[in-house]
Amino acid sequence: MAEKKRTIAYICPSCRQSVIVERTIFQLAAAPSVLPCPCGQSALRVEMLGDHMRLEVPCVACGHSHTVSCASNDFFHRRALAFSCKTTGLDCCYVGDEDAVFPAVRRLEEAVDKLEEQGEAGQFLDPVVMQEVLGELRDIAQRGGVSCACGSKRWKLQVNYSSIDLICADCGGAMRIPAATQSDIADICCKNTIRIKPKG
Ligand SMILES: [Zn+2]
Ligand SMILES: [Zn+2]
Ligand SMILES: [Zn+2]
Repeated sequence: MAEKKRTIAYICPSCRQSVIVERTIFQLAAAPSVLPCPCGQSALRVEMLGDHMRLEVPCVACGHSHTVSCASNDFFHRRALAFSCKTTGLDCCYVGDEDAVFPAVRRLEEAVDKLEEQGEAGQFLDPVVMQEVLGELRDIAQRGGVSCACGSKRWKLQVNYSSIDLICADCGGAMRIPAATQSDIADICCKNTIRIKPKG
């Protein structure tokens, strides 16, 4: 009969690939193990300390490492164990039989993808650039430099993910100011006035 093996999995916070490794119970019990991601930027550590196992798990959800532990008996014999991130509540590591660990990691990959989509939705592409461009825009506005070609000086501001829209309150004309890169800051810095194009 083949020697009993354990499958251990986590998602690398650096390259976001799943790292799934297999070790025999003998290997895991004999000495501390370092299970690195092929990218070289993260590694899971596992060590047997008497009757329990201690793991240091790089966490893709919060970007930190978590130290978790469990009974050695569970670690070596349970069909599947899940360890979770205390900050986000998301799982960060699975240990167990190969056929139980693989589907668990696939589900975690999907959850991490969703987390990233949600995280980006409320933020800016580059918060520093956005802040700078908004600051410049405020300066121009305070000097009365924003107007619409229709003659109006009443306008609204709408902040987007990587741009700012200036919308004329009278004719609905709009102008988009990009706020994504360093050159967008430079562009708005050299403007004294901004003229919104009228609608139509
Ligand atoms: Zn990696
Ligand atoms: Zn975490
Ligand atoms: Zn207008």
